Amino acid sequence: MASPSAGTTIAPPARPQTAPGAAAPAQPRRLPLKVFEELEIVRDPANLFHQTIETVLIAADLVGLKHHQQIILAQPKNEIMVHFPVLMDSGHHQLFKGYRVQHNNALGPYKGGLRFHPHVSLDDVKSLAVLMTMKTSLVRVPFGGGKGGVKCDPRKLSRSELMRVTRRFCSAISHQIGPDYDIPAPDVGTNAQVMAWFADTYAQMTPESSRYNSAAVVTGKPVDMGGSLGREKATGQGLVDVLKEMLHELDIDIGSMTYSLIGFGNVGGWTGRLLSQLGAKLVAVLDHTGAIHNAKGIDTTALSAHVDSTSGVGGFKGADAMTTDQFYSCKVDVFIPCALEQMVTAKEAKMIQAKVVAEGANAPTTPEGDAVLLSRGIEILPAILCNAGGVTVSYFEWVQNRSSVYWSADKVDEELDRHMVMAARRTKVARHKYGCDMRTAAYCAAIEQIGKVYDLRGVFP
Ligand code: NAD
Repeated sequence: MASPSAGTTIAPPARPQTAPGAAAPAQPRRLPLKVFEELEIVRDPANLFHQTIETVLIAADLVGLKHHQQIILAQPKNEIMVHFPVLMDSGHHQLFKGYRVQHNNALGPYKGGLRFHPHVSLDDVKSLAVLMTMKTSLVRVPFGGGKGGVKCDPRKLSRSELMRVTRRFCSAISHQIGPDYDIPAPDVGTNAQVMAWFADTYAQMTPESSRYNSAAVVTGKPVDMGGSLGREKATGQGLVDVLKEMLHELDIDIGSMTYSLIGFGNVGGWTGRLLSQLGAKLVAVLDHTGAIHNAKGIDTTALSAHVDSTSGVGGFKGADAMTTDQFYSCKVDVFIPCALEQMVTAKEAKMIQAKVVAEGANAPTTPEGDAVLLSRGIEILPAILCNAGGVTVSYFEWVQNRSSVYWSADKVDEELDRHMVMAARRTKVARHKYGCDMRTAAYCAAIEQIGKVYDLRGVFP
């Protein structure tokens, strides 16, 4: 194995040694400055892509990943940016900006969601594509990592405008994606209907003789159009599977624990409903419409109905309104962010009164927030582990599309649970082996696998 890359040594955040799988003391982290310099990246600590690459390179250094492989992982393979006009209901045309970033395909076709959001930017999409490479490797599904998005506010688009944005975006990138090459899926601001429009548009652009398999170009489709049973709840279900595997070692009983959620959309809503079925008590929720609290427990089914009809948790009758600061300070066993990136900064991390933070969202914690949580002895279960259930069932959907054999809901759940439990155990083993925090351990377990494959393949020619 290659020697660790040169870099500045920084002290690791202090963490308690009683956590699951902890064996050796945490090693000092080395900032991967050499790779940054070599790639002429001017490191900006506030840049999400730079933060993500730093985490990757710190773990790569720990596992002894060869230098040229570190360089490969530090940049996406392809960054596609498109501008496309869309006819709006008003009769005018509006120009939209879309992205598809293909980070790495060493383990299989690029895979990752499509986000429709006003703040979509190239660096954020690059960061999310890297996270996908890590996730697919950690759960050992044969995909690489990609991500895409359109800078738009889907809440302000009519249904027909949303359909036209989706179709024009698909047509703009149609030559750079495909069932064997790059397979998008839903993310924030997109859903099964958007995937249905996307798949149909791709089919129209495919010669009729090869259309048979074209629906496999996206996952997260409606079940009636080739989607998988269990895909809609998959990310929440996977998170619950991880909690079942991890919490008992932290002396938390999942059936009687209290928890809070940021976000009650796909991931937060399903996590809430599934945890309620196990007996856990949801005491507080924050979303873009406000924060709510009920010490006796929030009825997650009633809250879902409220969110479906009003689009947010604000005004829910079964709980009291609270401020954002009160939400973060609310005492719970497990704190579960399931909304956007970078919501838990050092400020929020100082307020959180939980034993465990389980990251349902991608990159919800800033590096400063991370350091504060760890120094306070709060265990962090990282996003690349906790939210990998979505891509895992997406893989099952792709397998079903390609084989034309469709699975029962029980089989999907059983296979998902197996993948999530194995990923959690890989993370615990890596933590033990490398004496690091749980986030670094998950990245180590993912990168070890990518390194093995690159060692076997070599680099062409
Ligand atoms: P979603 O659009 O269904 O829900 C997003 C939630 O975030 C909503 O409840 C919204 O109210 C809340 N939110 C938005 N802005 C907020 C703000 N400023 N403050 C508080 N809450 C706010 O999205 P989702 O699919 O549930 O995705 C949530 C996160 O999980 C994202 O980071 C996404 O990348 C990640 N993720 C999703 C999946 C999936 O299968 N859907 C898979 C893996 C990771």
